[in-house]
Amino acid sequence: MSASVAGVPEGARVILATHNAKKLHELQRILVAAVPGLEAEAVISSAGIDLPDAVEEAVTFQGNALLKAHSAAEATGLLAVADDSGLSVDVLGGCPGIFSARWSGRHGDDEANNDLLLAQLADIPDEYRTARFVCAAALVAPDGTEIVERGVMTGRLLRERHGEGGFGYDPIFLPDGEGRSAAELAPEQKDAISHRGEAFRAIAEHVAQLLG
Ligand code: IMP
Repeated sequence: MSASVAGVPEGARVILATHNAKKLHELQRILVAAVPGLEAEAVISSAGIDLPDAVEEAVTFQGNALLKAHSAAEATGLLAVADDSGLSVDVLGGCPGIFSARWSGRHGDDEANNDLLLAQLADIPDEYRTARFVCAAALVAPDGTEIVERGVMTGRLLRERHGEGGFGYDPIFLPDGEGRSAAELAPEQKDAISHRGEAFRAIAEHVAQLLG
């Protein structure tokens, strides 16, 4: 069935509804380790595939992840995985939350988002700078079956940027138990403790059951 959808390669078994190559590689690594006989090439991303745009109109991470996964599963007939994530700052009542990518007003402007958050928290003492990254990962089967798993990485906000790796708010986030910012961790170190790693590993177990 998958071969009949424009852009879906023969042999594809799972689609990740994202254009983000780093997320794809992380999910491929986790799924290949969790699902016997699954090749990395059988896990594809929606980049380059003609999918209807899923409008992220839900107001929760879970709702947005489900919207994206449903859209990909229905269009391709594959098992679909999608995630939605963001940073939740305690003293801001959980914001930026679902507005994380566009907190400064410009979608995807990591520099401006970090500048604004640092300025907003400039007078906040260290003990109140607690925050968490949250990820909801959704798995949707072509028959409409849906499963959502959540991952969390707790930590606190630094007062300036540290490190060049990662993306988003990583340079200003100090994960609990770490002496370095999330941007100073190697990718596999971050995967091991991250909200997305936790949610993807839980989803991988369900993928293994559904494909097995
Ligand atoms: P998305 O779920 O990939 O669209 O992420 C939404 C936004 O949340 C990103 O643009 C980042 O600002 C923030 N975010 C989510 N996960 C991370 C992370 O692991 N590190 C840093 N920022 C993140």
